[in-house]
Amino acid sequence: TSFMELHLSRPLLLVCEELGYAKPTPIQAACIPLALNGRDICGSAITGSGKTAAYALPTLERLLYRPKNRPAIRVLILTPTRELAVQVHSMIEKFAQFMHDIRCCLVVGGLSTKVQESALRSLPDIVVATPGRMIDHLRNSMSVDLDDLCVLILDEADRLLELGFSAEIREMVRLCPKRRQTMLFSATMTEQVDDLIKLSLNKPVRLSA
Ligand code: AMP
Repeated sequence: TSFMELHLSRPLLLVCEELGYAKPTPIQAACIPLALNGRDICGSAITGSGKTAAYALPTLERLLYRPKNRPAIRVLILTPTRELAVQVHSMIEKFAQFMHDIRCCLVVGGLSTKVQESALRSLPDIVVATPGRMIDHLRNSMSVDLDDLCVLILDEADRLLELGFSAEIREMVRLCPKRRQTMLFSATMTEQVDDLIKLSLNKPVRLSA
């Protein structure tokens, strides 16, 4: 399979070329077509499998056709650690480099709450966040909500749960519209991860890399 055969648009094909991605990794080849069809996905995938592009490319493809008249947070990506959030945020910026006015904002502990608050109020298309900091903003700011979210991504779900973020994630899932796409990735599939899958995914396709 080539990226071209996966039906991605030109700005994203150009980026794969620029990054030197000759062909999709197995998780990308499996995930991208299903994600483009709007399916919920539950992927067993470790770091190094190419999982970030597996969820980011189809998500960006979807944003190419978003309504532009009304800014809103359309995509929320939750990661267990600040380091992973920083890494995902920088990959999204790379993947989106040939797309016009896509805004991606990082919301993690250790950065100024005030600065993040104003970034969130401007309603970026994509938010990459750790759960603790994101829930603070959702609880405390009237102008930050998830009412128009179309894609929710739970990255490293097993670690999110190990680090004790279960309550925050459940609260955020409840704040998202019912009609949305959800993708969850996890290195291991524990009972706790299974409970989260039942809570947050709708007829998911299971993939493993
Ligand atoms: P990840 O598993 O998402 O953390 O990605 C691991 C590394 O693989 C990152 O440095 C990516 O830039 C790289 N990568 C992702 N997809 C591909 C691909 N199709 N071809 C070559 N490298 C890739």
